[in-house]
Amino acid sequence: MSGSWGYPYRRERYGSFTEKEAPGMQLFEKLIDHAQAARLVLENTPRLPVADMPLMEARGLALAEDLKAKFDSPPFDNSAVDGYAVRSEDAREAGRTFEVIDEAPAGRPATRSVGSGEAIKIFTGGVIPEGADAVVMVENTSGWGEEFELKKAATAGQNLRAAGEDVREGDMILRAGTEIGAPEIALAATQGYGELPVSKRPRVVVLSTGTELVEPGTRELSPGEIFDSNSFALLAQSLEAGADARRVTAASDDADVLRAAMEEALSTADVVVTSGGVSVGEKDLVKGTLLDLGVEQVFWGIKLKPGKPVFFGKREDARFFGLPGNPVSAMVCFELFVRPALMQMMSREDRHRPRIGVYFDEDVENRFGRMHAMRVTLTRTEGGWRAESVGAQGSGLVSSLTKADALALIGPESEGVRAGEPVEAIVLREEVLL
Ligand code: AMP
Ligand code: MG
Repeated sequence: MSGSWGYPYRRERYGSFTEKEAPGMQLFEKLIDHAQAARLVLENTPRLPVADMPLMEARGLALAEDLKAKFDSPPFDNSAVDGYAVRSEDAREAGRTFEVIDEAPAGRPATRSVGSGEAIKIFTGGVIPEGADAVVMVENTSGWGEEFELKKAATAGQNLRAAGEDVREGDMILRAGTEIGAPEIALAATQGYGELPVSKRPRVVVLSTGTELVEPGTRELSPGEIFDSNSFALLAQSLEAGADARRVTAASDDADVLRAAMEEALSTADVVVTSGGVSVGEKDLVKGTLLDLGVEQVFWGIKLKPGKPVFFGKREDARFFGLPGNPVSAMVCFELFVRPALMQMMSREDRHRPRIGVYFDEDVENRFGRMHAMRVTLTRTEGGWRAESVGAQGSGLVSSLTKADALALIGPESEGVRAGEPVEAIVLREEVLL
């Protein structure tokens, strides 16, 4: 460890236990590596069904099917300006006088057609009347009136927006997979779509567990208590990922309370995310309760720092992530496992966090025997992206997260990385790449 990183060295909290030292304690059967855990999550996470959603609810989701134009757009030839619709053959020279016989404001087509020497007053978006093939701007005439004098010659097609010049009937206007933002909503609306087929948002329920937890803003802390920050953090992460997420008040480490809260969450959510109570302590009841509730364990325990005790399981269509209680572990594990699952459910793989190669200026050790997802800042240099530890890497240091641009993945195999050696990093703040 190079001194500048300064994160404390401690013995593994759990790694030092053996059955003999901790009789009766449930231990991790087998830790799997981080890549395998990520793969298992995706393999065991279904895509959510496609549903037609009102335009505004589809915002931010991925279009599930190609969208075709139902008709030519614009649907009729119309005027691009305010002025007069005329026959261009009458308007080849300035100086001619026209008789105004009707008008065609937007939404109200003229009832008459334009004959020789005649004009119809027209406004932007008005239907080009029969007989007319050009529009002269009012600025190029003597002005509004029963008749006018042309001040500037006109040509056929001038100031006219042709039917179908935007999109043609049958054109594919939006491809499946496209993220629905304002322009896509505009285009769909011009084609009369009030709903769009999208992959639904997963319903996420976030639940903190721990008798020490107090709802922020409700009262002062008593000795030994802390405010629940995880459920807010995880809710924010879920919402940021595009999920339809809510949080429930923290459950205490009481078996019945926990069981009721988890059952309620499991029966109403596509994804349940808990924090705390998932390790090997006597008060860590989450895993046992889940198994009682019929949740099938996919894995429990990852060779990862922070985030060793992560539990992932499933019950029918619901997926369950039991994240560790330490705030940094919870948030990092959300990034590594929950967010990709949510994206897959929504068919939003294009929204995965960018992964880039970074390097450190100094050697960085990893003696944990687990992948270290290290919080780093990023700086663009001539040699590429330089990563630097945010400082102490303790998994309770919430303030460190506000400083991190990325998670550098430092594998356990080589016990670290050398200065300058390429390291993969997951970029959390994409704006730093700009
Ligand atoms: P646990 O995983 O339950 O053993 O919790 C590990 C550490 O994280 C303990 O110090 C807990 O007090 C803390 N912790 C657990 N849940 C939360 C939470 N919701 N908000 C903030 N800290 C928490
Ligand atoms: Mg706890």
